[in-house]
Amino acid sequence: MNKGLNPLLARQLRKHGLDEQLPPDAAIWSNLLSVIDQAYRDADQERYTLERSLAISSEEMHALYQNQKSSYARLRTLFETIQDLVWLKSPDGVYLTCNPMFERSFGAKEAEIVGKTDYDFMDKKRADLFRERDRTALANGGLSVNEEWVTFADDGHLAAVEVVKTPVHDESGQLIGVLGIARDITDRKRTEAELRIAAVAFESQESMMITDADGVILRVNQPFTKINGYTSEEAVGQTPRLLKSGRHNADFYRAMWETLQRTGAWQGEVWNRRKNGEVYPGWRSISAVKGGDGVVTHYIGALSDMTERKAAEESIENLAFYDPLTGLPNRRLLMDRLQQSLASSARSGRKGALLFIDLDNFKDINDTLGHDIGDLLLQQTAQRLESCLREVDTVSRLGGDEFVVVLEGLSEHALEAAAQTKTVGEKILATLGQPYQLATHEYHSTSSIGATIFSDHGQSGGDLLKQADIAMYQAKKAGRNTLRFFDPQMQVSITARVSLESELRKALENQQFHLHYQIQVDSSHRPLGAEALIRWIHPLRGMVSPAQFIPLAEETGLILPIGLWVLETACAQLKAWQQDALTRDLVLAVNVSAKQFRQADFVAQVQAAVQHHAINPILLKLELTEGMLLENIEDTIATMNALKEIGVQFSLDDFGTGYSSLQYLKRLPLDQLKIDQSFVRDIAIDSSDKAIVRTIIAMAQSLDMDVIAEGVETEEQRQFLLDEGCTHYQGYLFSKPVPIEQFEALLKQG
Ligand code: C2E
Ligand code: MG
Ligand code: MG
Repeated sequence: MNKGLNPLLARQLRKHGLDEQLPPDAAIWSNLLSVIDQAYRDADQERYTLERSLAISSEEMHALYQNQKSSYARLRTLFETIQDLVWLKSPDGVYLTCNPMFERSFGAKEAEIVGKTDYDFMDKKRADLFRERDRTALANGGLSVNEEWVTFADDGHLAAVEVVKTPVHDESGQLIGVLGIARDITDRKRTEAELRIAAVAFESQESMMITDADGVILRVNQPFTKINGYTSEEAVGQTPRLLKSGRHNADFYRAMWETLQRTGAWQGEVWNRRKNGEVYPGWRSISAVKGGDGVVTHYIGALSDMTERKAAEESIENLAFYDPLTGLPNRRLLMDRLQQSLASSARSGRKGALLFIDLDNFKDINDTLGHDIGDLLLQQTAQRLESCLREVDTVSRLGGDEFVVVLEGLSEHALEAAAQTKTVGEKILATLGQPYQLATHEYHSTSSIGATIFSDHGQSGGDLLKQADIAMYQAKKAGRNTLRFFDPQMQVSITARVSLESELRKALENQQFHLHYQIQVDSSHRPLGAEALIRWIHPLRGMVSPAQFIPLAEETGLILPIGLWVLETACAQLKAWQQDALTRDLVLAVNVSAKQFRQADFVAQVQAAVQHHAINPILLKLELTEGMLLENIEDTIATMNALKEIGVQFSLDDFGTGYSSLQYLKRLPLDQLKIDQSFVRDIAIDSSDKAIVRTIIAMAQSLDMDVIAEGVETEEQRQFLLDEGCTHYQGYLFSKPVPIEQFEALLKQG
């Protein structure tokens, strides 16, 4: 007997002997039909049909049955081809039917499944779970949905399925069982998982933005807002130009787009601008997203803020190259800089110096006031050292209380470089010797300095450091708070120079300077005048040559009072000569040094001297050298013109040793060119000197200036000069520079 078949229909079928021919699950199909196909939705209509059927013929009944049977067949086909798992269980959990998909998952045929329960196929726990779910579906009376993972018994593949369970009733309302339909949602799950991962990734640490193919921003994440300052609302609809810093040119963006289009990706360092205007370094990577057809649909841009990384890199670099306590370069950076200084010295020919500075009795401060106070002293020492030096010099801390200074670009001459080094060293000693305020303590400290001069290659940084260190110990031995040079010869010279300098300072007040006069004559030996040349008569040293003390006087600035003294003395002499017909017309030439000439009140000084002594200014001739005039041409011309107003004359001393061009000489109000003695010396034997002298004479004539030759020692020289048209001479041939009494005696001899 077919259970569950519409009772009226069943009875009818039985009457016609047809019921036995129905497939075993026809009863189920009949009910499924009512559920799914809606064929029997209208119960009244059916009842009517059935009632009518009571009266119909068996042929009619058979036709009806056939009709219904083909309807079952259609449904069965549908049921079997459907890709979902479909099954029907009785309210007690007994399988009533299932489709081939379900068979695959169970690994059994329908005939083996029907009449059995889940307990026959799986462990109790899982069967209990399914049973529970069926009960829930039954209790709900409606749809109940679950998701679970199913391993297909036939091929072992794992699939995620969404299970929909529905209680099924026949048209009389009687419960038939639970219909289960399970759909494979593995792909959907995978996509969902990927989306979830993408969503998490999108909200990662990095600033991200998604744009469409035209670069319009569609979406930005939280870090984007945090880093750039623009909210999602502000950014969406804009383009990445929103972040443009202006630090990259069009070529940069062109290259970026070119790479992006060619390879689908770009990454690199960019400068961006935050909403608050701040520009920051970032690492940007852009990827193009392409659709199935290969056409770009979106761009994804990731951006990380490198400000902190850069700062971290810098602080790492700082640690590696700088002393954390003082912020000064450490030994490593010092050696590096020293190497560069050595190379640059080899190129330029200029000397450099290395000073090793050690604080005197530093241990005491640590022992008495503690290390914190000691640290304060080191920090202040570092600051003071920096204040003593130029930008190009290096101050470093080797460790402890040892500091090293590298001076660059000093003089090409070792002795002068040593003098410059000494000046700096003394400045350092004085500066470090000032009292310190260390927290509440006032503290006095001194230092000892060892110095060494370096020039060309050959010397290593390490050697220099050792030399300066040795010299520093000598400074300590010498009683501290002093400077010593490594080179003993240099030390001797420097010591000599130091004493010379201190004596030079006293020379003026002690009236140790004198003027000597060297006669200048014309071609008939008639005196034209004299050059005033300074002499230093030292009580112990005797006569010191100006070649020895003039450079020192220039370096120390002593040349200013000395030069003024010369000017005053010369004017006084000119005044004295006014009284005598023999000397009344003599012109006195005075040497003027660069420093002196550059003084703001030099013109005033000359004017005052001329007025004070009431001399005829035309008798005063200022000797200038080429080098000092070239320094600042416009100022030079202005000063010279102002002096010219007073009425004094100019002679260009040591002419030919500089680089004056005719062009430039034309602009200077000069009266005379003085041929340097170096050309005169070899005039008889050296053809190039001859040529030079000839040229100078021709130049002077074309410029309408006098020309005088200095250092004329022989008659031969004089003759040559005369032949070339030079008629004024100065030199030992006529007289050496002599004191005034001798000079005047010379004049009287005639
Ligand atoms: P300068 O102005 O070129 O002076 C000429 C130098 O040549 C003088 O040397 C002079 O003694 C020397 N001399 C003159 N005739 C002969 C000669 O026939 N043979 C040789 N071998 N030498 C000769 P001095 O007096 O030693 O002066 C050297 C330099 O010192 C001067 O060169 C000048 O540049 C500077 N100087 C001298 N006096 C003064 C001064 O009062 N003020 C300034 N600023 N510089 C001065
Ligand atoms: Mg001179
Ligand atoms: Mg000269």
